[in-house]
Amino acid sequence: MEDLFAAAAKKGGKAIDPDGEQGKDGKDAPKKLPKGVVLGKDGKPCRSCTPFADWVALTKQKVANPSSSTPTTLPASASTSHALPTSPPPDCPPDVDTLGRSTWTLLHAISATYPASATPAQQSEMRQFLGLFSKLYPCWVCADDFRAWMSTKGNEPRVEGREGLGRWMCEAHNEVNRKLGKGEFDCERWRERWRDGWADGRCG
Ligand code: FAD
Repeated sequence: MEDLFAAAAKKGGKAIDPDGEQGKDGKDAPKKLPKGVVLGKDGKPCRSCTPFADWVALTKQKVANPSSSTPTTLPASASTSHALPTSPPPDCPPDVDTLGRSTWTLLHAISATYPASATPAQQSEMRQFLGLFSKLYPCWVCADDFRAWMSTKGNEPRVEGREGLGRWMCEAHNEVNRKLGKGEFDCERWRERWRDGWADGRCG
C-alpha cells in the first residue's frame, strides 16, 4: 500500500496538515502523516484511498492532538495498540480495500450478465458506464490510474459481448493486481469465478 502514498504524492496529493490547518505564518504547516495515508485532491486525508490500518493510525494521531477537527472517536476495536483489525467493521465507511473488493464484485458481475452479443446501444451504454465509473470512483488515485490504463492503445474496453468484456475486466483487474504486487488471476477462469461457479459444485 506504500505505493498509493507515493502515487498520491506524484500526482499532487500534498503532505500537508490533514485538516488543512495553516501555520502561524499563514502557510500550510507540513505535518508527517502516518505511512499509507493518501490525501484527497482537497489536501485532506482520503478515507476511500487509504487502507484501514493506516486510517486508524491517523485517527489515533488525532486523539493525541484533540485540537484537530477530524474524528476523535476511535472504533472500540482500535482502542488498544495490539491486534488492530485490517478491515473496517461492516457498518463503517469503506477503506480502499473494502471499496475495491465490493467494486470488483459489481464490475465482474455486470460483465458476467452482459449480453453474449451486445447491440450497438448496449455497447454505447457500457462505454459510457466505464467512462463515468473511471471518473467517479471514490479512490481518486485508483481512478486516475484506471483511466490512464483504459485509454492506452490496446486496453480500450471490449464491449461487443460478454466473453470479450469478461476477459477485458479480468485483464483490467490484473493490471491493478500487478501494480499492488499481487498474483495475477488466470483469465481463462473468469467465467467459473464470476458466472458459472467452480466445477466442484461448492458455489451451488
Ligand atoms: P480483490 O483484488 O478486490 O479481488 C476480489 C476477488 O476477485 C478475489 O478474491 C478473486 O477471487 C477475484 N479476482 C482477483 N483478480 C481477478 C481478476 N484479474 N479477474 C477476475 N477476478 C479476479 N487498491 C490500491 O491499493 N491501489 C490502487 O491503485 C487500486 N486501484 C483500484 C482500481 C479499481 C478500478 C478498483 C475497482 C480497485 C482498485 N484498488 C486499488 C483495490 C484493489 O484492486 C483491491 O480490491 C483491494 O486491494 C482488495 O484486494 P483483495 O486481495 O481483497 O481482492
